[in-house]
Amino acid sequence: MIIDVHTHIGHSPEDFPSAWMPGGTAIFGYMRATKGRAWEAKRSEWVSRPRKTDDPSGEESYKILNKVGVDKAVLLTLDFTLISEGRYRQGPDFVAARSIEDINRHIADVTKKYSDKYIAFVGVDPRYGRRGLELVRTAVREWGMRGLKLHSCAGWYPNDRELCYPFYELCSKLNIPVLAHCGMELYPLSGKYADPIFFDEVASDFPDLQFCLAHGGGGFSHVPARHQYDVGISLASIHDNVYLDMGSGQAIYARDPVEFYRELRRGLDRVPGKILWGTDNPWLVSTGIDWGGYINLLRNPDQSVLDKAGVSFSKDEIDGIMGENAKHWLNL
Ligand SMILES: [Zn+2]
Repeated sequence: MIIDVHTHIGHSPEDFPSAWMPGGTAIFGYMRATKGRAWEAKRSEWVSRPRKTDDPSGEESYKILNKVGVDKAVLLTLDFTLISEGRYRQGPDFVAARSIEDINRHIADVTKKYSDKYIAFVGVDPRYGRRGLELVRTAVREWGMRGLKLHSCAGWYPNDRELCYPFYELCSKLNIPVLAHCGMELYPLSGKYADPIFFDEVASDFPDLQFCLAHGGGGFSHVPARHQYDVGISLASIHDNVYLDMGSGQAIYARDPVEFYRELRRGLDRVPGKILWGTDNPWLVSTGIDWGGYINLLRNPDQSVLDKAGVSFSKDEIDGIMGENAKHWLNL
């Protein structure tokens, strides 16, 4: 079974404040153009180009997933609707066209249409408070969403007890897992809020709640931070309920395949049952590595690259990454 635990199928540009689009657009464009090199030099060239990597209806991705043999894909709803907090981030550019209820409802509807393949996670900024809690309750009980996606780069800390713990308590009650973005981000988002270490106390305080730290805690990322990957691995090794996903790992492979395999080996050596395959697609298709490409580089790696990296992977390890570990995490 192949499970992609990290996709953004179903989103469209109107879900995001326009202030985020230059960064979002640029980073995907630059990865394609430079394979991850020369970010500073290329950045200004890409900021005004329209993004062509969304799939609001989910139909295009569904066809591709069928073709390449992905059995399940987790659709993670993103909530950047409150990035206007703070005096430097005011005005219409920091407001999304759709409400957070409408954004989540749309992802739930897309999932319903392709329910044999898609699993939806509700996404909400905990600063919505009671309104956010009500949304999570409705999304899970009435719309069939099956997990919570958090993206603290919008401006809050995931270990904030007053703000976030009511959401973790609700997830425990609803028996749904939590997937949280970890690692660096571009303006007006801020990576300082998304260090994996914040989940150390959260994972201890909610031992029954299953967590996935996205992007390996920040190491598998379009802006990779190796020390955050180390923290992610350590957390997954000491907490039974902490997993890591590989979303955006294609960005590392596109730049340096040897580094990609070495980093994966390093994680597998410490937490073999805790690494979950994820893509961050359809956005990361812009690296030139689509769903099929990411599967292929894991299932049929180039032996000369593995030799150069000095690593190898067993079939069981790859099967674990591709779906077996996720089955456990998602309780499928
Ligand atoms: Zn993502």
